[in-house]
This record gives sequence, C-alpha cells and structure tokens, in this order.
Amino acid sequence: MSDTIERIKCLIIGSGPAGYTAAIYASRADLKPVMYTGMQMGGQLTTTTEVDNFPGYPKGTDGNAMMEDLKNQAERFGTEVRFGLVTKVDFSNKAGGIHKITIDESKIVEAETVIISTGATAKYLGLESEQRLIGGGVSACATCDGFFYKGQDVIVVGAGDTAAEEATYLANICKKVTILVRKDYMRASKAMQKRVENTPNLEVKFNTEIDEVLGDNVVTGVRAINNKTQEKEVIDVTGVFIAIGHKPNTEIFKEVLDMDEVGYLITKGKSTKTNLPGVFAAGDVQDKEYRQAVTAAGTGCMAALDAERYLGSLV
Ligand SMILES: Cc1cc2nc3c(=O)[nH]c(=O)nc-3n(C[C@H](O)[C@H](O)[C@H](O)COP(=O)(O)OP(=O)(O)OC[C@H]3O[C@@H](n4cnc5c(N)ncnc54)[C@H](O)[C@@H]3O)c2cc1C
Repeated sequence: MSDTIERIKCLIIGSGPAGYTAAIYASRADLKPVMYTGMQMGGQLTTTTEVDNFPGYPKGTDGNAMMEDLKNQAERFGTEVRFGLVTKVDFSNKAGGIHKITIDESKIVEAETVIISTGATAKYLGLESEQRLIGGGVSACATCDGFFYKGQDVIVVGAGDTAAEEATYLANICKKVTILVRKDYMRASKAMQKRVENTPNLEVKFNTEIDEVLGDNVVTGVRAINNKTQEKEVIDVTGVFIAIGHKPNTEIFKEVLDMDEVGYLITKGKSTKTNLPGVFAAGDVQDKEYRQAVTAAGTGCMAALDAERYLGSLV
C-alpha cells in the first residue's frame, strides 16, 4: 500500500561511485535528482580500507572517506540523498512515460527518468575464516588489491575465465600464484588456459578446495584439502583472491529490463540506455568486464548526460 506519491525528474537507485557521479552531473544539469542509497550506503568501496587507484588521490584514500567525499559533492549541487531500498519497479515503455518506483514497499516515487546503479556483489566461499579476513588478505578483486601483494605468494580460487585472468594478472606482480580448482579441469576458455600454462610462476592444483584461511588479523596461509584423497596441506600465502564470480543486483528488474544470462543489465551501444525509454544503467550492474570505481563513475556521468538529453528530446 502506498503512503505517499511524489513526482520527480530523475531518480537514482544506488549510492556507489556510479550513482554519486550520476548525481553530481544530474544535479548540475538541474534535474533535481533524488537518490535512494540502498542498504549499503556508499556501495562496495565502503568494505575496503585502501583505494589506491582512483585518480585525484595521490596518496590513496580510504574507501569510506572517498564515498563520503562523493556524497558531499553530490549534495553540494542539490542531490537529495535518502536512505531506502527500491523494492518494486513499474517502468513505462513509452517515450515520455512516467516510471513508478516503490521504496521500502510503501512509498511510491514517480520519475521521468531513472538511473540504475545497483552494482554487483562478489561471491565468496562462505567460510567463517574467509569472511573474517576480508580486507586482511582475502579479496575478490585482483586489479584492486593485487599491488599490495607485490613480490609475495598468493592463491586464486576459481576455474573460469575470471580466475584465469586474475591469476595471470597477479603472476606479473607476485612471486608465485597458486590456483585452486575444485574439479579436475578448468572451465576457462582454451586461450586463457594456454596463458595459465605458459606462465612460469603459476601453479594449478586440481580437486583442491580451501578448508580454512589461516591467520588472526591478516592472512598467513590456507589449509587446502584435496577433495579426492582428503589429504590436507598448508600453503603459505599472504593473499587469497576469490574469483568465483559476481552477482549483479538486478532481481527487481527481472522480466522488466533486458539482461544477459548472469543478470547484468544490457545497455545499447556506447550509451547507458536500457531497452526502456528514460531508464538508464551505470556501473557494475551493467559491466562484467571492468568493475572498477573509475569505470563505474565514468558510466554514471554518461547516464546523467543520457537522461538529460532524453528529457531534452521530449520538448
Ligand atoms: C573489497 C573491494 C575492494 C575494491 N577495491 C577497489 C579499488 O581499490 N579500486 C577500484 O577502482 N575498485 C575497487 N573495487 C570495485 C568497486 O568497488 C566497484 O567497481 C564499484 O564500487 C562499483 O560501483 P557501482 O556504483 O556500480 O556499485 P556499488 O559500489 O556496488 O554500489 C551499489 C549501490 O546500489 C545500492 N543498491 C543495491 N540494490 C538497491 C536497491 N534495490 N535499492 C536501492 N539501492 C540499491 C547499494 O546499497 C549500493 O549503494 C573494490 C570492490 C570490493 C568489493
């Protein structure tokens, strides 16, 4: 049941780098955007301490501090940031149509344009030791955190293209990379498997899983188990990279917006346009390839420009 209805020009769903950048551009274009932050205000970067690769921070920054900076910048131009979860969408399929979005199962917001920046969530194994050591040596992003393990030994868990890609990326930086593969084969493409085979400091252990990540505050190793022989061994490493995939946060858009087989939203050509007029997607929710804060911010900018041009085309 709706308790209030409100009409706005631009609604932004999600408060990661894509959402806040869209908000900065949309508010400067006078679209008076309203943002709903979702449960994770600030997005994925609030789960990390060091962000070293976002341009403009020569000494690096803390993930929470950076997201606070982005929020302040968006608010400076008039973005209204509200805590709340979008629970249902009823998008119009007509140019100039009004989209109805339900917040927290009660309030309805009517919006002329919607920018979706709900991100993606990295999958983890679910071990207690793994969860405890996220940020202390356990990571789901080699591009983000690999540099901190320069010259050290690390483990990559996974068997697909992402795992192979992350492992070869890390092999350029680290002393030794061991890939743990649960089955007796890799799912990665033949080309990626060749790259793995041809990388001298990369070892693949098949039929091997993590039994426990070792270390109190930082990773000191893993206890691995061979799932065929049940034999256990300790591998000394300082970093554990989980590369078993991501889940885009698109449940509420199922059967409404075009998405690929994994659930990533599909955007048209080089734009952020979805299959519905006035609905745009930015950031990790539509990007399984790069998944970086700076690329999310870039597409957030594009989405605001696309929204502004769309509204302009209606008059
Ligand atoms: C541990 C870790 C470390 C990382 N380190 C780096 C790094 O050093 N450098 C780098 O460039 N990248 C890094 N990344 C990747 C980076 O965080 C992401 O690429 C980036 O945050 C994606 O931004 P986004 O705006 O698309 O989405 P996200 O940051 O994922 O934000 C999604 C937002 O959507 C909201 N949301 C979801 N569903 C709803 C809903 N139904 N209603 C309303 N809101 C909703 C969430 O609350 C959240 O605010 C790291 C990621 C992780 C997990």
